[in-house]
Amino acid sequence: MEEPSGAWDVYTDGSKDTSGTGAGVFIRSPRNDEREVTVPLGKMASVNQAELVAILEGAQVVKQMVTGQTRSKICFFSDSQVSLRRLSQGTVKSALVWQCHQALTELAQEHKVTLCWVRGHTGIEGNEKADQLAKEAANTLLCGPEPAIPLSSSVIRRDLKSRLQSRALLIWEETPGCRQSKENISFLSLQDRTSLVACSRSELRQLTGLYTGHCTLQVHMRNIGVVRSARCPKCEGEDETTAHFIGKCQAYGSQRVQLLNAISAGDDWARLPLRRVKSFVVSTGRLIEVIRGNPP
Ligand SMILES: [Zn+2]
Repeated sequence: MEEPSGAWDVYTDGSKDTSGTGAGVFIRSPRNDEREVTVPLGKMASVNQAELVAILEGAQVVKQMVTGQTRSKICFFSDSQVSLRRLSQGTVKSALVWQCHQALTELAQEHKVTLCWVRGHTGIEGNEKADQLAKEAANTLLCGPEPAIPLSSSVIRRDLKSRLQSRALLIWEETPGCRQSKENISFLSLQDRTSLVACSRSELRQLTGLYTGHCTLQVHMRNIGVVRSARCPKCEGEDETTAHFIGKCQAYGSQRVQLLNAISAGDDWARLPLRRVKSFVVSTGRLIEVIRGNPP
């Protein structure tokens, strides 16, 4: 048992894992009486919000515990540098930070309040207990509808983006046909999408043709009856599919090394950044040669 410090120690912590988010508070009075608090916050709250809720809850609970006392020493301990920094900044942009600030200020009007940072997971008993309580809260089912507390705009943006991506992917997968396109276009990164927006109309036409297989390479030209053989006219190694042209054709070995950073991209060519594929295609001049009716 530790010697009474003469102060109220309020250890706070937040936790987030796959099952949810939660805040934990462990309070020890100068007479070594203990109080444990858990606040489940559901799946949508962030860990930073949980850290702040823990401080807010700690302030509210300890306020009740010190009722009738004057000038008690109350020390808050948090391992969240982010929360402590946000509480000490002059400008407050978040309602939760504001509530926290108000609760601490109110407490400080009658008591001596300090906020301290403690390094987490270093064996400090109070911090370990708060951590345990926060984990317990994170694993406790939230009573009531989500979200438990107002969401930050960054969480809303991230959630909307992820919902949009899942929806777009589902529509893409459920669309009948487009076999070759589906093989080649599995996922477009944000960089890829930015590259697409920067493309000229003719580059977009070439890239769309390339990824869907409907372009002027020999396989498609054979399929639509323009030429008899699908064989690659540059290396004569195999049929000229998009995968052959981008990933394997020996005629473009040096461009591949220089622009795609690979000797052979093989069937993984569709995973290459679109920006690089575009540079490669332009450098070979292959699609333009055929478009201009000037096959080799
Ligand atoms: Zn070839």
